[in-house]
Amino acid sequence: MSDEKTIFQKIIDREIPATIEYEDELCIVIHDIQPQAPTHLLLIPKKPIPRIGEATPEDKELLGHLMTIIPQLAAKLGWTEGFRTVLNSGPHSGEIVPHLHIHLLAGKPLGPICG
Ligand code: ADP
Repeated sequence: MSDEKTIFQKIIDREIPATIEYEDELCIVIHDIQPQAPTHLLLIPKKPIPRIGEATPEDKELLGHLMTIIPQLAAKLGWTEGFRTVLNSGPHSGEIVPHLHIHLLAGKPLGPICG
C-alpha cells in the first residue's frame, strides 16, 4: 500500500484548497471539483479508511455518524425533491481516490444508476 497522502487527506490537512460545506471532528464535506449534478458533495471521514469494503466493526460509530450528516445536509441545502448517494469501493466500482467518501448528488432528476 502506498504511504503517499491521498488528495482527500491533503484537503483534510489543509495542504490543498477545497470548497468546504461542512466540517466536524470526524468528517469533512467538500464540493466535488467535477460536479456530476448541480450540487455534488463528497462526505469524507477524517479517518483514512481506504474504502467501505475495508471498513471494520470498529468503524461502526463513525459510519453511523456519516449517515446522520446526510439528512442534515439535505435539510440545510433544501434537497426537498431528493438526492442520490454513491459509495464506490474498488476497481470495478470506478473508485479513483482510495479514501472512503460518499458522493451526494442533488438538484436535478438523475438518470439510471449504472452507466
Ligand atoms: P469517480 O471519479 O469514479 O467517482 P471516486 O469515487 O474515487 O471515483 O471519486 C473521486 C471524486 O473526487 C471524483 O468525483 C472527483 O471529481 C473528486 N475530486 C478529485 N480531486 C478533487 C479535489 N481536489 N477537490 C474536490 N473533488 C475532487
